[in-house]
Amino acid sequence: MNELHIPKEQILASKSCSSCLSSNLFLGIDLGELPISNELKSISGQSTEFFPLQLFICENCSLGQAPSNILPDRLFSDYRYLSSVSSTFVAHAHDFCQEVIKKDFIKPGELVLEIACNDGYLLKNFLGSNFKILGVEPAKNVSKIAEFIGIPVINEFFGAKLAREILSKYGYPKLIIANNVLAHVPDIRDFMEGLSILSGPATKISIENPSILNILRDNQFDTIYHEHFSYLSCTSVDYLAKEFGLVLFDLDSIDIHGGSNRYWLAREISEISQGLINELASESSAGVSKKESWYVAESRKDDTLIKFANWLQECRLNNETVIGYGAAAKASTLLNAAGVDKTLLSMICDLGSEKVGRFMPSEDFEIIDFSSLIAKNPENIIVFPWNIADEISSQISKSLPDAKIWIAIPELKRIR
Ligand SMILES: [Zn+2]
Repeated sequence: MNELHIPKEQILASKSCSSCLSSNLFLGIDLGELPISNELKSISGQSTEFFPLQLFICENCSLGQAPSNILPDRLFSDYRYLSSVSSTFVAHAHDFCQEVIKKDFIKPGELVLEIACNDGYLLKNFLGSNFKILGVEPAKNVSKIAEFIGIPVINEFFGAKLAREILSKYGYPKLIIANNVLAHVPDIRDFMEGLSILSGPATKISIENPSILNILRDNQFDTIYHEHFSYLSCTSVDYLAKEFGLVLFDLDSIDIHGGSNRYWLAREISEISQGLINELASESSAGVSKKESWYVAESRKDDTLIKFANWLQECRLNNETVIGYGAAAKASTLLNAAGVDKTLLSMICDLGSEKVGRFMPSEDFEIIDFSSLIAKNPENIIVFPWNIADEISSQISKSLPDAKIWIAIPELKRIR
């Protein structure tokens, strides 16, 4: 197979922290050189490019970061992830909107701005009740769906420049929602400056993101991929907010994506919540910016990869087929970091029609639909999105009651 490896030195040109600009970075998790996880191939046998995937931690502000010189246009312009595909995610967005209305963070007549509005999965909850709505979404193929249901969308990447344009045209939003986007932003300072520009005296900002503690404490290294430049914690968000004249004042813990934090920021606020103070203390005791704690996480990751590969070998020796489920980025990180080839796992089932018929690099794992999975009737199914493994395994076992269903993270385990 054709392979093109980009030298590490070329990628790691940036040696300073993308948030606090200090040079106190150390290597936390090293996944080697991997293909871009969402870049599925339309034809098997096309060449694969490999890029280093390494999580660095800043000792100064604790931000986790995976520097890369892959252009954002390449990573996100044809983004195939539609938020509305996951029923869990849609329900979560609905609950979020109910909550912000209940808290009076937004009222009819006021402007709500969502950055990375995807297919309108969240903003649609504000339609029809007199709220002013605006979405920002660089991926045109997904934003078309949002526009079709009546959500105005600006097709650009968000930053200070776009923030000034939005401010002059629309004024200060009352609520800014930047959920599950900050990790994808290459220039986190420019993004935060944009949020600061759009923050009036009454503006509240929600930033939702999986916590880096999930990687450190719960072995979720498969959430590291090239599309994620930053890995947040209360400590790092607190630092970054202050840099741009904002205050992190509250935190909600959310049971989604394997454990997320919702950070609440504002321009002027008098009280910091006790929950936030507790979480800052807990991050400090977990050693979120300490080399020693990341050394333990790195060894645990190596152990998990070896056990996963050994289990696949055993299945092959026993003549048992293994098929993957969920051709998401997590699958790509795990399979490629573990060096799995097609003799061990040849196919991955996915419900997204845009993915079916494509191939996941580097080994070109074929992506099949659910009816093909049933026809193959494998002895074993490994579920890659472990965060929704219960939902998935109960669906699978209705059609394949004898299949053994497994997850690999945080540890290899049979779940059904
Ligand atoms: Zn830093």
